Amino acid sequence: MREFLNVPEIFGSDVFNEATMKQRLTEEVYNAWKQCVTTGSPLQLSVANEISEAMKVWAIEKGATHFTHWFQPMTGITAEKHDSFIAPTGDGRVIMEFSGKELVKGESDASSFPSGGLRATFEARGYTAWDPTAFAFVKDGSLYIPTCFFSYTGDALDTKTPLLRSSKELSKAAIRILRLFGDNETIRVIPSVGAEQEYFIIPKDFYAQREDLRLTGRTLFGAPAPKGQELEDHYYGTIRTRISSFMKDLDEQLWRVGVLSYTKHNEAAPCQHELAPIYDNANAACDANQLVMEILKKCAAKHNLVCLLHEKPFQGVNGSGKHNNYSLSTDTGRNLFRPGQTPRQNAQFLVFLAAFIQGIDEYQDFLRCTVASAGNDHRLGAHEAPPAIVSIFLGDELTAVVESIINGTNYTDPEKSIMRIGVDEMPPIPKDTTDRNRTSPLAFTGNKFEFRMLGSSQSVTAPNIALNTIMAEVLGQFADELEAAEDFEAALQNLVCRSLTEHQRIIFNGNGYSADWEAEAAKRGLSNLRSTAEALTSYTSQKNIDLVTKHGIYTEAEFRARHEIYVEAYCKIIKIEARTMLDMVRHQILPAASRYTGDLCERVLNKEKLGVPAAAEKALIEKLSTATDALYALCEAMEGHMTDVPKDYEAATIYYHDVITKDMAALREQADILEQLTDKSYWPYPTYSDILFY
Ligand code: ADP
Ligand code: MG
Repeated sequence: MREFLNVPEIFGSDVFNEATMKQRLTEEVYNAWKQCVTTGSPLQLSVANEISEAMKVWAIEKGATHFTHWFQPMTGITAEKHDSFIAPTGDGRVIMEFSGKELVKGESDASSFPSGGLRATFEARGYTAWDPTAFAFVKDGSLYIPTCFFSYTGDALDTKTPLLRSSKELSKAAIRILRLFGDNETIRVIPSVGAEQEYFIIPKDFYAQREDLRLTGRTLFGAPAPKGQELEDHYYGTIRTRISSFMKDLDEQLWRVGVLSYTKHNEAAPCQHELAPIYDNANAACDANQLVMEILKKCAAKHNLVCLLHEKPFQGVNGSGKHNNYSLSTDTGRNLFRPGQTPRQNAQFLVFLAAFIQGIDEYQDFLRCTVASAGNDHRLGAHEAPPAIVSIFLGDELTAVVESIINGTNYTDPEKSIMRIGVDEMPPIPKDTTDRNRTSPLAFTGNKFEFRMLGSSQSVTAPNIALNTIMAEVLGQFADELEAAEDFEAALQNLVCRSLTEHQRIIFNGNGYSADWEAEAAKRGLSNLRSTAEALTSYTSQKNIDLVTKHGIYTEAEFRARHEIYVEAYCKIIKIEARTMLDMVRHQILPAASRYTGDLCERVLNKEKLGVPAAAEKALIEKLSTATDALYALCEAMEGHMTDVPKDYEAATIYYHDVITKDMAALREQADILEQLTDKSYWPYPTYSDILFY
């Protein structure tokens, strides 16, 4: 009999969500919690005590024996430490206990998490604090409590704290604008995020046989399979049975913990897929994306599969990214990036649009830096991914509006005069502008902006922190100017027109993959940070420090700490990859090639004894020997270069990029030649055609 999955019933069934709270808390306590999340007012310990008690009873019913403060250290993934609910009664028995204090604050040894120098070695303690705006949930027998993570001195050691800070700043500035337009209702403006996740799924036995996949998450070697993605037969293709049963299981697990998993389909590359949730507030969406990545991996393992979240697991086929759909919603349910129905609503829309355009133009390099990583270097600028240049796609209709404002011409009828903001109507903006240009790194898609430069494995917090902060800054400037104006309408016209005029260079509707664009972007003075090494150098520019400290998103020390961690992570990743390559070449590839060459030589000798021709074998031996010698020499050279890495991390980043990644590419080229020359039975690991077309 087929099992029936009652989705509405299981959805969020393992989450201590608002509905559950309403049911299980007294009205007074529920209201106190609600007040805390809407206005940010602090929670009394007595309230926390009641919540923790209700949470515990609920969690135990769900099978939990432990609780954990779940946090997001600067590794980009999540961390957890589980404590059990048990408390001894003194007579050899235990009861299950969980206090408000345990809910609200935790202490953990932070010494093994990256701190970027924020935490002195003698003060290894870290603290976690409950984030009451995110829901707790039960998973694998534990009650998960979403928390912020900070040091003894109060420095944020995580990605959630700055995200919450930036959302607050954004809301403050956006509210000022809304008030100017006569909105006295809205209490909060909330960034909304929908993060589409790409990933690869491969059989576990292939994965297990490749040291590069196991140690680095990507293939460091591999000649292209005879077939790639040129037939375009995978994109949106039928999902194979094994994968679809995995996906079914995945959806169920995600739904249980309240992740709004919505769309699933095959992606362009073989073995590549995508999962998109329905958007949610940024805080929940960031937590959800962490759960998606974690559950993808765990669920795959259960099905004897492996999920690869790396940005470029296979050379020559598409890599994986994340699309970060971003909009601003009011607590009254309005989307501020949605063009309005009336001239006045449109005027307000144009203010938010202009703020976004100006902010992205002014802080393009900051945004670019938030997606810089060793893995994403393989993607940004490659043929399927957006270029490393940040630009905004608006679509024809909106571009026409913007141009008419800039040029003082009418957007539809050249006879008519200037478009007066707040007076004239705008043409309808179609919602499906989205698919017209997939090459844009940042596209307006009708009522949201889709930022497409994120790497598939990265936390979505950093770019959203940047987007929030940039918006907070420019909206704040706009509010200053408009609040001080005597004639609001005139000031509005002036402001929007000036802002769009000054920042129109960031708008680009053409093909982002073309070489012409790179030249054109340079002419426009847009920044083009091609690699992580280049990007990270500009991350801590004074301008960026001023921005983040002004808004209290990071202290300068917190900001510099992040920079240090990104730089270190980059160096460590390249180092591990380089070492893995050397290991594989010396212990697998060279021995295999040599064994095969040796056997061929023996065959040639035998053939010659019999007086039969052996030209093919001889030619092969020649080619194999040439590639083998070249590979060996490259190995020696790279090993030498590895001993010359500068001690200073910043210099090391440049060195790893300029020297080591070039060595790695050369090494790979020779190894891949050997793979193509060698009898398959000698080859030490599964090839691309084994893995991608199983
Ligand atoms: P596609 O990118 O394939 O065209 P959609 O436009 O339907 O797909 O949505 C992609 C993602 O954007 C989904 O996660 C969706 O929930 C999210 N999304 C839709 N509307 C908004 C919005 N107003 N703000 C933020 N994200 C949104
Ligand atoms: Mg998309």
